[in-house]
Amino acid sequence: MNRIELKLVDLYNQMYQHTNRECANTCEKPHSCCDKMYCDWAKQHAKKHWNIDLQETEEYKAGKTKYPYMSEKGCTVAPHLRISCTLHTCAIYKYGFKPGDATWTQKYFDIRNQIEYFEMEKYENQKMKWKGVTTFIDSQYKGMVTLKYKTKILIKSVTARDAYIQCMLLYHEKPSVYNLDEFEFEEEK
Ligand code: SF4
Ligand code: SF4
Repeated sequence: MNRIELKLVDLYNQMYQHTNRECANTCEKPHSCCDKMYCDWAKQHAKKHWNIDLQETEEYKAGKTKYPYMSEKGCTVAPHLRISCTLHTCAIYKYGFKPGDATWTQKYFDIRNQIEYFEMEKYENQKMKWKGVTTFIDSQYKGMVTLKYKTKILIKSVTARDAYIQCMLLYHEKPSVYNLDEFEFEEEK
């Protein structure tokens, strides 16, 4: 696992600890919000984004549970592979916060914001890995470019590759300020 993936595993574990406490004394296992559809999402997510094949439990094979990954001790899927289950609580689903507990709500969104940031980083890394940064940029822009953000010129006359790196740096420094989709390259004629 690379640095971003390790960070995501840790953050989803933190979120699991945080949300699971909400359910532990409320619902018996299997939790009442479990649904085969979410198990299927976990299966697809694990394969597509982590190249992991989830294993059905003995309890499921023996017909003791409706859920493929449920055991007597609870769900066997790691928190970062079943993200909708990990992020879910009744209060967040119903209200978007936990009524009467600002501290819990603040911590939930602190962890969730970090998860969103690192998920985007993971996606960007994969995009660059798939395409190959150099071949991707060089195939699109041959000459010098002007880099714009929301039509405002940031830098003129740099190679497209340098402009792209500049976008990535700006975005990673301030992801809440910059939206990657709003950077533009304008090729000089
Ligand atoms: S993946 Fe696990 S927690 Fe999520 S719905 Fe299935 S059994 Fe429940
Ligand atoms: S989110 Fe709600 S329904 Fe689901 S396990 Fe927790 S308390 Fe139960």
